[in-house]
Formats: sequence, structure tokens, C-alpha cells
Amino acid sequence: MRNKITLIAHGGAGGINYPHRRRIGLKEAVRVGYEILRQSGSSLDAVEKAAIILEDTSIFNAGTGSYLNLAGEVEMDASIMTSELRFGAVGVIRDVKNPISIARMVMEKTDHLLLCGENATRFARMMGAGYHNPKTKEKEIIWKRKKKKILSNYFEKIFDFTNHYGTIGVVAIDKSGIISVATSSGGINLRLPGRVGDTPIIGAGTYANSTAGVSTTGHGEEIMRQILAFRAVALMNRMSAKQAGRNVIAHATKSGCRCGLIGIKKDSGILYVSNTQAMSWCYIKNGTMRSF
Ligand code: ASP
Repeated sequence: MRNKITLIAHGGAGGINYPHRRRIGLKEAVRVGYEILRQSGSSLDAVEKAAIILEDTSIFNAGTGSYLNLAGEVEMDASIMTSELRFGAVGVIRDVKNPISIARMVMEKTDHLLLCGENATRFARMMGAGYHNPKTKEKEIIWKRKKKKILSNYFEKIFDFTNHYGTIGVVAIDKSGIISVATSSGGINLRLPGRVGDTPIIGAGTYANSTAGVSTTGHGEEIMRQILAFRAVALMNRMSAKQAGRNVIAHATKSGCRCGLIGIKKDSGILYVSNTQAMSWCYIKNGTMRSF
């Protein structure tokens, strides 16, 4: 049986700054990803390509344009998964252009699921990914401004320095019914060096099974505690995508988890929901594009 192709992307939960630029970036990524599906390409290729476009726009908190950590460096997380339970991820990787492609290489070229730190970067180089500086002037200015608010302690608890979560995520289903999910993030603004967020953690930032796939965004520590992506997929096994979205976000809100998520359920629709001020999203379903 031929499945209905669908692709949905998010550009992070939280307040939406530069909505126009975000919308342009999301629409372009979704259009290109959907075209891959339309030409009978795989959902894996579609989500990777769409995520690469979002990582390259410099407007989102992923790839080029990622937030800086407390030391003023960019450390990125990314993961990719298919409904066949194939998974690959990188954590706190530096100086690469497209962390999502390195995550895919971990999935396809190694027996492991997650590589972190300088050895993730070393792996990327071994796979032929060249040096790329993802730091932008715009994010450096934000870093300087926000850093002044930290008084003295390097290890001060960081909770509320920003509610702009600009992580990107893409979920797609292809003609053969395979669902794939890609999530990529620069983490939370001013995070401690070495901090790994929810994005590369299976079941937290990304999850897919034969029924559904989900990508999340928001406060990573809380998302990990909630195992948010897995929770949403598990709910979609028993109810509609929309109902699962409502249930999972109600539970997250009750637990103080500021977040958003997107997802696709096989044969029965999509979900996009958040409990933050806003979340940027865009999708094409039945050939029609809609965006936030
Ligand atoms: N979830 C990401 C993190 O905590 C942040 C985001 O969604 O922008 O690393």
C-alpha cells in the first residue's frame, strides 16, 4: 500500500523573534523535504535535507547561529531516527556545519547510538566533514548582553536566561510508510560547557516507532525528565495525534516543563503543540502547505 506523504518542521518553542525570517526558513526547508518525498525519496533523506537547510539559515538555534555556552563557544547536539528504530546522535559537537549529518553517520557507519565531545568532532573529521565556525555575530551579541547578568559564579544555576528555544526538528513519512525524525540544537543559551540537552537523547528530543514519530523543543532538562518524545509516541499508539498532543502537553505543563513538539502518526495525521508563548512550525500535508 502507498502511504500518504507528509512532512512537518518546527523552529523552536518560546517567544518567536524574527518571525518573518523564521517563516521563510521553515517554508523553504519543508518545501525541499516534501519534494524529496514526492519524488519517492526516503523520509530519512527528506528530514536530513530539511534539517540541513534549517541549520544553515543562521536564524535558528541549530548549526550556524547556535547559541553560545557560558564560555562563549558553540557546542551542538543532534539526533536522527527512523521508525525501524535506527538511531544516531552527537552531543556537544563543535566546529562542524551540519551536526544532523554527523548524527546520521553515527547511525549508518558505526555500531553506536551517541558520540559526544571532541571525539564526536574527531569522528566527523574522519568522515570527511571539514572545519566550520558556526558562531554568528548576532548570537555573540546576545551572549555578551546576557552574560553580564551572571554575577560571579561560573557554576551558577542557569534556568531562566532565555525563553527563546530555537532548536529545529523535522518529521516525515514517505511512500513506503517509514517515518523519520531529525532534531538539531545549539542547546540552551549560556549552558555550561559540556552540558548535553534533550536533543541527542533517544526518547527525549527524538523518537519514532512503526506508529508515529516526534521531535521536541524547549527546556531540555525537563524534557529529559519527561522522556517527552517517547511519551508522545506511546500515546499515539492508543489515540489520535491531536489527542496525544493535548494529553502530553497537559502533563508537561503540570510538571513545569516548558516545551513544544511536532509529530506524525501513520495514517492519521499530525500534531504541533506547545505550552510556551509560541512555537514556529510549518508542514505540507495532502500537498498543501501551512505555517505558523
Ligand atoms: N531543547 C533544547 C535544549 O534544551 C533547547 C531548544 O529547544 O531550543 O538543549
